[in-house]
Amino acid sequence: MKAPGRPLVVSYGMGVDSTAMLVWMHQRGVRPDAILFADTGGEKPETYAYLDHMDRWLASVDCPRVTVVTKPGQARRSKHKTLEQNCVENETLPSLAFGYKSCSLKWKATPMDQWVSRWQPAQDAWARGEKVVRAIGYDASPADLRRSKIKETSKFTYWYPLRDAGITRPGCKELIESAGLPVPMKSSCFFCPAMHREEVVYLAEHHPDLLRRALDMEEGARDGKHGLKTTKGIGRSWSWTKFVADELPDYGKARCVIG
Ligand code: SF4
Repeated sequence: MKAPGRPLVVSYGMGVDSTAMLVWMHQRGVRPDAILFADTGGEKPETYAYLDHMDRWLASVDCPRVTVVTKPGQARRSKHKTLEQNCVENETLPSLAFGYKSCSLKWKATPMDQWVSRWQPAQDAWARGEKVVRAIGYDASPADLRRSKIKETSKFTYWYPLRDAGITRPGCKELIESAGLPVPMKSSCFFCPAMHREEVVYLAEHHPDLLRRALDMEEGARDGKHGLKTTKGIGRSWSWTKFVADELPDYGKARCVIG
């Protein structure tokens, strides 16, 4: 539980787990001091639309609205405004496709870190010799239990309320529904290498334009200056282009009809 007086910052991914975590906190009288969502510029439209739901609900329970943070220097120094643009212009894929995590570190963790480092309540806490509490929405499912669990750094204490409370994915959905909120879809970039095949099918059916952009990214990386030597495509061990050609033969036809 949050120690009295210490600033509490929620890393909010706008997906099921972190939304459930906010509901869980509210039900126990825990009020975050800041709720941060790191926008890579590549979330699916459903995720961006969910921000309105959350902001309305947060206002109704007297919590701060979601603060959207973006890549540091986005507006000032970098020519790449989004992760997608960064990949396309460099003829590459998100680093997760090569087994690294620098895409989420650069486009999600760093913007949140930099926001907190400029935040007065954090600076005041550090001046007092205290740490800022960061709440992370990993749940108690086996998959999330395998994810890293940092406890302390020199500036932060990490808190995993859903894990500590033993709440798994079904429990998360129940929590969200109990607050009268719609259950959000899984949040991620629409070209995320962690996506499953059924999510690619969803893109084809609901956002064929986004799937086309993802396939263009994969094609650009495959045919570009670096080529794809250690990975088959966005899916790392599988190519989205081949999957679509093999399993979604109507996808291209649909595009022609759409124009
Ligand atoms: S959602 Fe996927 S592609 Fe986007 S930053 Fe995270 S790991 Fe990288």
